Amino acid sequence: MTEQLNKKTATSRVTNRLYQTSTMSALLDAVYDGETTLDDLLQHGDFGLGTFNALDGEMIVADGVVKQFRAEGIASQAHGGLKTPFACVTFFEPEQTITLDRPHNKEEFEAKVDELIGNPNLFAAVRFTGEFELADTRTVFCQCRPYPHMLDVVARQPTFTMKNISGQMLGFRTPHYMQGINVAGYHLHILSDDAQHGGHVTDYVVKRGKLEVASISDLEIELPRTKDFAEANLNPEGLSDSIRVAEGG
Ligand SMILES: [Zn+2]
Repeated sequence: MTEQLNKKTATSRVTNRLYQTSTMSALLDAVYDGETTLDDLLQHGDFGLGTFNALDGEMIVADGVVKQFRAEGIASQAHGGLKTPFACVTFFEPEQTITLDRPHNKEEFEAKVDELIGNPNLFAAVRFTGEFELADTRTVFCQCRPYPHMLDVVARQPTFTMKNISGQMLGFRTPHYMQGINVAGYHLHILSDDAQHGGHVTDYVVKRGKLEVASISDLEIELPRTKDFAEANLNPEGLSDSIRVAEGG
C-alpha cells in the first residue's frame, strides 16, 4: 500500500515548479489567515518557506517536513492541519551543484547563485548545506485580531545571531518585476543540523558546503477567496520599500 502511494506521488510530481499561496503584498497588508493547510501545501512541494496563520512563526519545508520557528526561534514540527497565509514550495531538483570551499558573505553568495542561474528574469530555487560562520535570523510571533500591519509586527520581531553552526539554508530568488507578488531578490530560511534553530535569514556568511540551484519558469499561484484578501490594498504606495523593511533585504 505504502509503495503504491509513493509511486503515485512520484509520478504526479512536477519538479522545479513554484507553488505559491497568496501574495507578499497581502501578507504585508495584514492578511494573516489563509485556507491552505500544510497537508495541502505538501502536495505541491517538499522544499520551501512561508509563515503560519496569525503569523505564528516562520516556516521552513525541508525534505517534506514542515518546521515552525515561533518567537523563541526554536523549531518544532508543524501539524499538517495548520494553515498558512503565505508559503512558497517546490519539488526541488538541483540543476547545478557546486562546492563552496571558502567563505562567502551574503553579497558574494547571491552573486554566485546569479552567475550559476544566468537568466535574471527567472525564479530560482537555492539550497546551501554546510557550515556557516554566521547567520542572523528573525522570526515573527503570533498576532491577535485586529491584525497590525506587518511593518509594526517586524519592528518588534525577535532576532537571533547564530555563530559557527551547520545546517541548511534554502529558499527562492524572485525576479524584480514580481515584487509584491513575492519578495523580489533572495528570500531564504535556515534550519540548523540539530533541527532545533533557525528562521528567516537577514544576513549570513557561509563557510563551506554544497550549493545547489535550479531555475524556475513554471509558477502556480493560488489567490485566497477570503474577505480579508478581497478588502486588502495590494498596490499601496511605497510597496517595494515596505517589503524590503519587512523582509530584511
Ligand atoms: Zn521569510
